[in-house]
Amino acid sequence: MQNISDNYSILRLKLKELSTERSFQYINPKSREEQVEHLYYQMQQIVNVAGIKAVDILTDMGKLLTVMESPCLLIAPGLSPLLASHYNLCLGTIISLAGDKISELQEYIDDLETLKTKGIYMVTELDRGNNVMGLQTQAYFDEELQQFIINTPVAGACKFMPYLSSDHQPKLAVVMARLWLKEKEYGVHPFIVRCRDQNGKLLRGIKVSKLSTVDMYSSEADHSVTSFDNVRVPYHAFLGGDLNEVTTEGHFLTKNTSKRDIFFNSLCRVEWGKLVLVAALMSHYKMAIAVAIEYSKKRKVNGKNTEFKLSDIATHKLDLANAYVALTASIALYEDTKQRCLTVEQTHEELQHEAAVVKAMCVEIARGALNTCMARAGAHGKMIRNRIAQAVILNDHTATAEGDSLPVLMKIAKDLISRNLVPEQLYDIQTISITTQQALLKLLLSQINLLSQQIREKLDTDENQSLAWNNSTHIAKELAWAYGIYKTAITLRSRSNVQRSFCINHILSNAAWFSANQLVTGEEFQKLRECYEEICIDIFDKEAISVAEEFDIVDLVKMTPIGSDDNALKWMELSRF
Ligand SMILES: Cc1cc2nc3c(=O)[nH]c(=O)nc-3n(C[C@H](O)[C@H](O)[C@H](O)COP(=O)(O)OP(=O)(O)OC[C@H]3O[C@@H](n4cnc5c(N)ncnc54)[C@H](O)[C@@H]3O)c2cc1C
Repeated sequence: MQNISDNYSILRLKLKELSTERSFQYINPKSREEQVEHLYYQMQQIVNVAGIKAVDILTDMGKLLTVMESPCLLIAPGLSPLLASHYNLCLGTIISLAGDKISELQEYIDDLETLKTKGIYMVTELDRGNNVMGLQTQAYFDEELQQFIINTPVAGACKFMPYLSSDHQPKLAVVMARLWLKEKEYGVHPFIVRCRDQNGKLLRGIKVSKLSTVDMYSSEADHSVTSFDNVRVPYHAFLGGDLNEVTTEGHFLTKNTSKRDIFFNSLCRVEWGKLVLVAALMSHYKMAIAVAIEYSKKRKVNGKNTEFKLSDIATHKLDLANAYVALTASIALYEDTKQRCLTVEQTHEELQHEAAVVKAMCVEIARGALNTCMARAGAHGKMIRNRIAQAVILNDHTATAEGDSLPVLMKIAKDLISRNLVPEQLYDIQTISITTQQALLKLLLSQINLLSQQIREKLDTDENQSLAWNNSTHIAKELAWAYGIYKTAITLRSRSNVQRSFCINHILSNAAWFSANQLVTGEEFQKLRECYEEICIDIFDKEAISVAEEFDIVDLVKMTPIGSDDNALKWMELSRF
């Protein structure tokens, strides 16, 4: 396997440099409008340095992932989905499905590459989010004028969340709609729709909510509710790729075998999209844990006869070691998946599975850890300047964007059952102690195998077969989670202590299940607890304590008040006393 880590070292350096510029440090906008404009200004700066071309998206996603991983995205959670929509979802869908229309589409591609227009993606509707296969936006073909007419037939079909409410930004959208030809419907397809012209003026028939309408907490972006009223787009705006075509006479030709396959062909960038969004979390995870640990090293606490630091207290060490292990695990899972996705040819099913595991597991493993980082840094941890808050926000946004964690976990469970992906049980390992690496991994495998047996039995015996899956989703969730934990643990193979504490934490958190299924005895739980405490203290003292050096972000940590030479003096300076 080719190692891809160094291919973009210069780009990585340039982006790091950009992230230290004033416009990527603390901003204090006077109004919501100013905040949105500043976000687009930052986007422009990143795009100028990145220089990503459409062809890069087809041939080497490493470049876009490098951009997403960059610390430029630390300042504003809104930058991640904005860049992801522009490059991967909008430009990516156009270039992937251009087929033989590439020359007609070149103008759109040029505009997107140079950011003459920003690309957005409209799939979610007010009534259809995770269940987007049932979306209702319509695209009728007008044979006479050789145009498609896009319509929002009911309120629930309004597109939800795309970045379209700023009045100052040119926007080009890829809109998912149902194709209608001569009173017959032919599935969901992408259409290119110019929504705002070069001056940001809305084009005819497009209605968009005001900037303040979509009041998502902590977002700097211009999310919107959007509806289409007889919006006409040219013939070449239909994106069918090599598999789907609408003839000029209004006939639909397809090489896909079902509407479901058509749907997945249309949403061809969504799997990579999950990896792209997770990439943007990497800098955040690193900063959050590094800043929290920096705080613990500096914060003084009064003892009886002496003064010590938070980092000398066992609860603090254990909590932060736990957070360090979880975030290290999420980062390792991402890196491992990225390496495979960039270097190994994968089928659509394989990519779908990889993307589901990496997105659901990274964000959900990190969720608690990020909250711990914030909580253990007191009021200072809640300050935007100290960067932990943005990590908490972006992680939560990412958990929902491009598929909520729970439905994604359901998809993983379905794969495990229907495609027989359950890893084999290890029967013949003679282990000395339950706390060894091998014994712990064996326990995880036992859990996966038992849960898959339980869900199969439940599905087979449910009296109402049409509701059997819905009635089994709680087991499906446990199965997918156990599998994701195992897959993540495997990626930690080179760091024995981190891997062991990660596995033990899972087993202790699910003690009731392991006990009820007679996989761990009371005595063994006691051993696991003692071992866990011992390893975590060791991890804190020997590894977590130098996390900023490990992630090469000492300079970035130093730019925060917590990381500065003197936190109190920094606040005096900021207060202009
Ligand atoms: C920051 C951000 C940016 C976004 N940007 C865009 C964008 O640019 N373009 C766009 O089109 N959309 C965008 N979205 C929308 C996003 O794709 C949807 O919010 C997402 O798909 C979830 O849909 P929903 O909000 O309707 O939730 P729902 O589908 O209603 O899900 C809510 C909850 O119901 C449960 N649930 C739903 N379905 C199932 C199931 N099958 N099995 C088990 N449980 C289930 C889960 O607990 C889930 O968390 C964005 C969202 C966010 C947060």
